[in-house]
Amino acid sequence: WAKSDGKAKWALFDPERNAREVARFTLSATMPAAIERGEFYLDYQPLVRLSDGQLVGAEALVRWRHPEFGLLAPDRFIGLAEETGQIVPLGRWVLREACRQARLWQDRFGQRAPFISVNLAVRQSRDPSLVADVAKVLAETGVEPGRLQLELTESAVMGTADEPLDALRALSAMGVRIAIDDFGTGYSNLAYLRHLPVHELKIAGSFVEGLRASAADGSHVVDARIVGTLVSLAHALGLGVTAEGVETEAQARRLDDIGCDSGQGWYFARPGPPDQITRLLS
Ligand code: C2E
Ligand code: MG
Ligand code: MG
Ligand code: MG
Repeated sequence: WAKSDGKAKWALFDPERNAREVARFTLSATMPAAIERGEFYLDYQPLVRLSDGQLVGAEALVRWRHPEFGLLAPDRFIGLAEETGQIVPLGRWVLREACRQARLWQDRFGQRAPFISVNLAVRQSRDPSLVADVAKVLAETGVEPGRLQLELTESAVMGTADEPLDALRALSAMGVRIAIDDFGTGYSNLAYLRHLPVHELKIAGSFVEGLRASAADGSHVVDARIVGTLVSLAHALGLGVTAEGVETEAQARRLDDIGCDSGQGWYFARPGPPDQITRLLS
């Protein structure tokens, strides 16, 4: 797979596609060593209580400082890592690193420390060692289980297989919080949702986007009704609800009026280094 070779051979019909393939190949081949070399790091984005603006949590979002391709956002490598199975060791690293940071906040701020929210890929939720991994990391880092939230997508929890559900029940019994990420974009079986060990719904940013003053086509009215319905649904199920992608003060106010508990988005803060959270708490 000499790169020069590839170029010479494929350039004639689709150089862009070839470059993408080479990048994908390089990324997946170098991922294991990249974990060892410390090329991944986590940014943290505040989760804010809408009623009083208190910082209550922080979502850990992984980034890859790649020596050749520069700074990579997760959509460049998470899907790929899922395909290759690398998501399991990468996910373990993310969990450990996030909990290491959570412990620092726990020691410094006590009860005021934010809970830490960690994304789990579908493949991780099906990994038989998930529960043991989480228990081990919590024990080793000394993070209280109630200060860890795991974010799963609808497809991860709505499957028919029992194993992931058993894992979620075990995690929930340990005191770990479970959130459904990007709620509303997948296929949720509402009857089934009632029986899941879930604590929080995170409403996808695409619904929040429409919460502006007005749109020529009246779509803002529909979006506001959808968000209102999702908030009512969450509360009827006894769950907390967080809105993602909150970009304006108007959206934050509207969400608070609707009864949404928490918000996350550029209006409050962009994802950033852990210092950002520490400063907000100080
Ligand atoms: P997500 O879990 O839904 O995370 C929220 C995404 O929305 C983040 O993108 C965040 O930077 C972005 N965001 C936050 N506020 C706003 C806003 O006001 N407006 C807009 N337009 N976007 C906003 P990011 O960091 O690029 O992550 C993308 C996705 O990658 C995440 O979506 C999550 O599904 C996945 N991901 C990130 N870190 C991890 C990880 O450690 N493990 C796994 N399995 N997936 C991860
Ligand atoms: Mg998330
Ligand atoms: Mg999300
Ligand atoms: Mg997302």
